[in-house]
Amino acid sequence: MRILVVEDEHKIAAAIKKGLEQETYAVDVAFTGPNGYDLALTEEYDLILLDLMLPGMDGLTLCRTLRTKHVHTPVLMLTAKGQISDKVSGLDSGADDYLTKPFSFEELLARVRALARRPKSVLGNVLSVKGLKLDTMTYEVSYYGKRVLLSGKEFSLLEYLMKHPKQVLSKDQIIAHVWDYDADILPNTVEVYIKNLRNKIDVPFSKKRQPLIVTVRGFGYRLG
Ligand code: CA
Repeated sequence: MRILVVEDEHKIAAAIKKGLEQETYAVDVAFTGPNGYDLALTEEYDLILLDLMLPGMDGLTLCRTLRTKHVHTPVLMLTAKGQISDKVSGLDSGADDYLTKPFSFEELLARVRALARRPKSVLGNVLSVKGLKLDTMTYEVSYYGKRVLLSGKEFSLLEYLMKHPKQVLSKDQIIAHVWDYDADILPNTVEVYIKNLRNKIDVPFSKKRQPLIVTVRGFGYRLG
């Protein structure tokens, strides 16, 4: 899950970024409206957290303009306390949800999770592909009932693969959704993480089961 945070108050932006990264999300931050707009248009995000009052271009205009450009990334609008009319115009502009400042991080996370899973048919918080289960709330992963311990990035990568089962995903697509803009990506970064996942998921079951993580030569990877 990759998230864009557009927020001009540096302290708030830094706190949101840090908190979301602890939850294994990849996060980019923009401090002005135009910068946020450019990133939202050129990079692939799964969610945008958008402040209302921004230098250069306000959140409403930004959101409305994105929608006219057919960018339908879910937008969670951050509004100042009690600005009811802002909420209404926020939703009118094409935002998917709003959150009133000041908010607790728990509330922000709950909204982020709700929006992140909205387009997919997910049973509760648990993604399931064959015997593989991944809980996006508790971060527990199991394969045929056996617990699998993953690092944060391994978890994000597996979550992305599980949200697109049976689809061939290119390395570029994987990088765009699992790593943030500033991350140091080496040509073999994805391969390294895929290998880690295989060692933890497929290798222990290699005598009984077909591998779940499949390499599609020249294209990328497919789950299931
Ligand atoms: Ca602001």
